Amino acid sequence: MKYSGNCLCGEVSFKFPYDPMMQFKCHCNVCQKVFGNTLHALAMPQDELEISGSLSNYYITGGSGNKLHYNFCPTCGTFIYNKPDLLDPMIYVPAGLLDGQIEFTPTVELWTSQKPNNIPQATSTKAAFEDNGTTDRLMDMLENLDQRG
Ligand SMILES: [Zn+2]
Ligand SMILES: [Zn+2]
Repeated sequence: MKYSGNCLCGEVSFKFPYDPMMQFKCHCNVCQKVFGNTLHALAMPQDELEISGSLSNYYITGGSGNKLHYNFCPTCGTFIYNKPDLLDPMIYVPAGLLDGQIEFTPTVELWTSQKPNNIPQATSTKAAFEDNGTTDRLMDMLENLDQRG
């Protein structure tokens, strides 16, 4: 396995074998509330993420009517991954969980209309959307899933 990480208390650990399909930031109000700041995320198909330990979960229903599931350690509360039903089977893993194994270089930023003023756009960003522009992009990636080792 190429990448690995764990929660604060160590009860939950994970690994995945391939580079993420996309690195992105989400500045939306929900991420600000859940993560205390802009979400820095790595996107990958769920079946590439191998988890040991049990997770608690909670979901919200987004503006699209689709659910967004948060999965976290029941003991220390560290978020391990989020799963938007809208983009099944894609999941988002917070980049900070990987202890620096990936130098976070986002190419996409979402919900810039809700971005806090003190957060600059990343120099690596190629596309920034005022709203949830990720849908089109992730659908493109899903069509290329079979190209992955
Ligand atoms: Zn934990
Ligand atoms: Zn968000």
